[in-house]
Amino acid sequence: MSTLKADIVICGAGIAGLWLFNYLKRKGFNALLLENDAIGCGQTIASQGIIHSGLKYVFTGQVNELAKSISAMPALWRKALKGEGPVDLSAANVTATSQHFLFRSGFKGSVTGFGADLMAKAGSIGNNARRIKKSEWPASLTEVGFSGTVLSMDELVLDMQSVLHALAAPYQESIRKADMLKDIDFSLDHSGNIERVTIKNQTIIAKRYVFTAASANKILADRLGHGTGLETQVRPLLMGMMQNAPCELFAHCMEVSPKPVVTITTHRAIDGKLIWYLGGSVAERSKDSDPRDVFAAAQKAFRKYMPSVDLTKVSWSTLPIDRVEGKSKVAGHLPNSPTIHIWRNAIYGWPTKLSFSPILTNQIAESLSNAGVKPSGQETDWSFLPKCSFTQTPWDLTIWKHAT
Ligand SMILES: Cc1cc2nc3c(=O)[nH]c(=O)nc-3n(C[C@H](O)[C@H](O)[C@H](O)COP(=O)(O)OP(=O)(O)OC[C@H]3O[C@@H](n4cnc5c(N)ncnc54)[C@H](O)[C@@H]3O)c2cc1C
Repeated sequence: MSTLKADIVICGAGIAGLWLFNYLKRKGFNALLLENDAIGCGQTIASQGIIHSGLKYVFTGQVNELAKSISAMPALWRKALKGEGPVDLSAANVTATSQHFLFRSGFKGSVTGFGADLMAKAGSIGNNARRIKKSEWPASLTEVGFSGTVLSMDELVLDMQSVLHALAAPYQESIRKADMLKDIDFSLDHSGNIERVTIKNQTIIAKRYVFTAASANKILADRLGHGTGLETQVRPLLMGMMQNAPCELFAHCMEVSPKPVVTITTHRAIDGKLIWYLGGSVAERSKDSDPRDVFAAAQKAFRKYMPSVDLTKVSWSTLPIDRVEGKSKVAGHLPNSPTIHIWRNAIYGWPTKLSFSPILTNQIAESLSNAGVKPSGQETDWSFLPKCSFTQTPWDLTIWKHAT
């Protein structure tokens, strides 16, 4: 048995692990990223790819902490997309540069007073949301027969597969396959410090071990005796998917609840077909709900907001998936920021939202810096472990059904 050295071992190649990994590799850290399935296969590829600017969160009636903290994120992502940030996303594709909030005619959202109030709140968090005249609407909104008030905001939607490639591909030799709950033996000292890990008869000693494996983090933390004070939560979704979508649309359909009735993002499947990916209230249900309930809720929303949409040629599917994050102070809500839990030389992290990944990495980097952990500039050959491939999108993996 030989001993290999790493600066940092990261477990879990979702956006949290990948953003950190790319950041560390660019700084010269000898980092190893371990993943038990495929790169990005969890919540990250299941996400809608929206880099939130905070507007969605001011609908609660007040400018809350979440709206304020997330509103700073688009600037960090834009910098990374230009190749000017601490991670390089210049190879990633932007699917949309703006999104629309739709308020139907006759609904209070179409009243100028509400819109003005909302935009004042948006302005207070630096959001440039603005009401747009019909002549400025994207053609797709007229095509689907929408009638009402439209707010436009510069909120990016990213092609998540290209984000995964941008972060991982330059350093793929250091991304390897291993299950931290099954394949890795952790040796601890009496205080819970991880002294070394053993995988496939090889010992690895790292300066820090970072866990970004979503729900598996808590299991491991409890197993290693690191779980004191750590609470997490899981919020299920049954996301809707619609194949042969009529046009490109990036929209939140709003009603009285702060949560959109449906949030639509558009994607292109590998066979070229247009996909609508449907989140918001239509998806807020347990993962084992009847998929037909999602289709019915989406169809109901379409009848109200886009009566001209032809659904005769579309096929449907669903994706059951959990959002995993630190425990919020308010039941059923998401926390206002990423969650980080540090125990000796182990760091556990949950970004809460894709958008917050830069902040989680900053917090972990600060913890490394405070502990005097510096990049060694070395590279280790990790080829004793299998390579890890990239995940596919949910719409390329699913089996499509016609709505009943
Ligand atoms: C349907 C949906 C839509 C969303 N849309 C948005 C959005 O538009 N904008 C936004 O900002 N946020 C969005 N979010 C939230 C966002 O996707 C998540 O906060 C983020 O992707 C979490 O990243 P992560 O890296 O912590 O987790 P994950 O992406 O789940 O990654 C965890 C990784 O760890 C790996 N892993 C698990 N167990 C082990 C193990 N035992 N050993 C090794 N590896 C392991 C997994 O295979 C996975 O690759 C959405 C979430 C969902 C579910």
